[in-house]
Amino acid sequence: MTEGGPAAPAPVLELRGLVKGFDGIPVIRGIDLAIREGEFLSVVGPSGSGKSTLLRLLAGLERPDAGEILLRERVMTCLTPQERPTCLVFQSLALFPHKSVGGNIEFPLKVRGVPGRARRDRARALMALVQLDPAYYRRNIRALSGGERQRVALARALAYDPEVLFFDEPLSALDQRLRRSLGAELAALQRATGKTFVYITHALDEAMGMSHRIAVLNAGRIAQIGTPDELYAQPVDRFVAETFGALNVIALTRDAGGWHEDGWRPVLPPDAQIAGEAAVAMIRPEALRLLGPGETAANRLEAEVMSDRGLGAHHRLELRARGRVWLLDLPRGVPRPAPGATVALGWDPADTILRAR
Ligand code: ADP
Ligand code: MG
Repeated sequence: MTEGGPAAPAPVLELRGLVKGFDGIPVIRGIDLAIREGEFLSVVGPSGSGKSTLLRLLAGLERPDAGEILLRERVMTCLTPQERPTCLVFQSLALFPHKSVGGNIEFPLKVRGVPGRARRDRARALMALVQLDPAYYRRNIRALSGGERQRVALARALAYDPEVLFFDEPLSALDQRLRRSLGAELAALQRATGKTFVYITHALDEAMGMSHRIAVLNAGRIAQIGTPDELYAQPVDRFVAETFGALNVIALTRDAGGWHEDGWRPVLPPDAQIAGEAAVAMIRPEALRLLGPGETAANRLEAEVMSDRGLGAHHRLELRARGRVWLLDLPRGVPRPAPGATVALGWDPADTILRAR
C-alpha cells in the first residue's frame, strides 16, 4: 500500500513506556507507540525480539512491569483479555476441533446470548466476508485445510466485533502461495471492515505488501516506525536498513579531511550531518550501476565480476572491488558482463544512506 494510511490519524491504542521482563531478563524495554484508528500496523523483528510478548501485553495475556496501555484514552493496562474490546488471532489456530465451522464462528455470539437465528445470519455473513463457501457451515473443523481454518479463525475473531484485532504470525504455517493470497485478502478485509489491525510477522514481504505502517522491533525496543517506503529508503540505522534488504556497507572514520575508509573518500550526500567519528555508508544493490565506456559517476570503482545469479525479476551480480564483495542488481533482460570480466561500477551520492555507527 502506498497511500500512507488513513487521513486524520487519532490513536485508538496508545502504549506509554511499556516494560516487561521474565525472571529479571528484560524483553520489552520501553515502548511508546500510538496506533491509529483504522490502520494496518505490522510489527516485524527477528525471532526473540519480543514481538509475541508485545502482542500478549496488548491483548491482556501478560501484565507489564511498568507503563500503560490506553484504548481511546482509557487506561486498560489491568483489564483481562475478556474485558478488552480487542481480539487476538493466534498462530496456533485455537479453534474448537469438536465444533462445526458455524459452531466455531457463532461461539462468541452464543456467549453473549445472541439468539440462534441472529447468530446463524451473522455467521453466514461473516463466512461470506472471509470468502468461505456457505456449504462449509455444518462441516467439521477437522475436515478443513489450513487456509480454510485460518478463514474460520478470522470470522470467529470478527464475530466478537472487536475494535482492534491482533494477529501473531497467523500465516506462518501456510505455504508461500497461500500466504500471499491470504495476506492480500487480509489487507482487503481490513479495508472493508475499517478495523484496526496489529499484525506480527517475521516475513517482511508480507508486512510490506499489507501495512500502512511497520514498526521494527530490535531487542525489545522500536528501532523505527514508518511506511514501508520510508523504512526502505530512510532507515534510521544499519539494523533497520538490513531488515529491509541487501546492502553494500562502507565503514567510515572521520579525520581532518572528512569521512574515509582507509584513505579512500567516497562522495557522500551533501546534507550528511553525522556526529561522532564513526559512520556507515550504505548503498542498495539496485543503486549501483555498471558504467559504460566514457560514462562518469561521482563514485567509481574498478571491479571484477565474480558471479551472476537470476533472482526472478532481477539478476544479482557479485563484484570484487577494494578487496571485498559488492552486490549489484540488474533488471532482468539488461545485458550483463560475464564472470571474470573487469567493469567499472558507480553510484550517486544521493543513493548513499549515511548513518552513525
Ligand atoms: P518473538 O515473538 O519476537 O520471537 P517473544 O516475545 O516470543 O519473541 O520472546 C522474547 C523473549 O522473551 C525470548 O527470549 C523468550 O524466551 C522470552 N519469553 C517470552 N515469554 C516468556 C515467558 N512466559 N517466560 C520466560 N521467558 C519468556
Ligand atoms: Mg513470536
